[in-house]
Amino acid sequence: MAEIRKVAVVGAGTMGNGIVHVFAHAGYDVTMIDVRAEALEAARKTIGGNMDRQIKKGALTEADRDAALGRIRTATELSTAADADLIVEAATENRDLKFRIFEELDRVAAPHAILASNTSSISITEIAGRTSRADRVIGMHFMNPVPVMKLVEIIRGLATSEETTRVIVQTSEKLGKTVAEAQDYPGFVSNRILMPMINEAVFCLMEGVADREAIDTVMKLGMNHPMGPLALADLIGLDTCLAIMQVLHDGLGDDKYRPCPLLRKYVAAGRLGRKTGEGFYNYSA
Ligand code: NAD
Repeated sequence: MAEIRKVAVVGAGTMGNGIVHVFAHAGYDVTMIDVRAEALEAARKTIGGNMDRQIKKGALTEADRDAALGRIRTATELSTAADADLIVEAATENRDLKFRIFEELDRVAAPHAILASNTSSISITEIAGRTSRADRVIGMHFMNPVPVMKLVEIIRGLATSEETTRVIVQTSEKLGKTVAEAQDYPGFVSNRILMPMINEAVFCLMEGVADREAIDTVMKLGMNHPMGPLALADLIGLDTCLAIMQVLHDGLGDDKYRPCPLLRKYVAAGRLGRKTGEGFYNYSA
């Protein structure tokens, strides 16, 4: 398989702009693709701003920033990914949308290109099944915020080849990341463990085991977690937490993964966490 030189990233939201940032910083030519031109413009600004912060910390020079920004081109059409050796999809977490994107990418991408998805919970095997190159489809699960977080969880679909895995491990390491490999089961490793912990914290709150501050304090000071599970849920978004619990519940069929009714109630009320100003905590002040 040819070396990865050109990369395309599909989706320029929270994760997409971070993924573009780390690839451009590492010297790759990157095409950043989004259906919304305003998302591309916002992502460019965010990447520039985040690189400026790295300059202040001494982690980047102005010349490196200018070179990295110069390696990024933007586009609204998936067909512009035709010259990429690796395409990383980071579009909205929706099965049908991702299936459609992979069907089209399979048509437009170079035959040797690897198609990776940053999905948090959708089956890589199912995504790969929408293409004619299941051996070259893989999960490349970056963490938020991408330029800061060290981990890339690599998910092998049923048909993902050794060679594809090797290339993606090597590429992730070139980005300065540490990889952990997982097989394709609901939630992979990260969300299989994290989300039930958050869900259990919500049960503790609902049942009156402790108040929100006590629950978060136990996990911060007692378990040395950098933030408590309820504060973390607010950061991730309660709708996202609920959606992932539903994937675990449906995919594993075990009632231990049932979403907590209080989590459902908050989502129904539109209390989604930081993004709406209120979740388990209030952020409007
Ligand atoms: P986001 O909503 O911030 O961004 C999604 C972007 O995809 C939007 O800009 C949207 O315009 C674009 N998009 C939608 N349809 C498209 C299409 N057909 N072609 C091109 N672009 C399209 O979402 P996000 O938080 O960046 O999440 C992206 C992916 O990363 C999801 O699969 C999510 O599960 C995963 N993920 C998110 C996090 C997180 O903390 N936010 C962490 C790990 C993984």
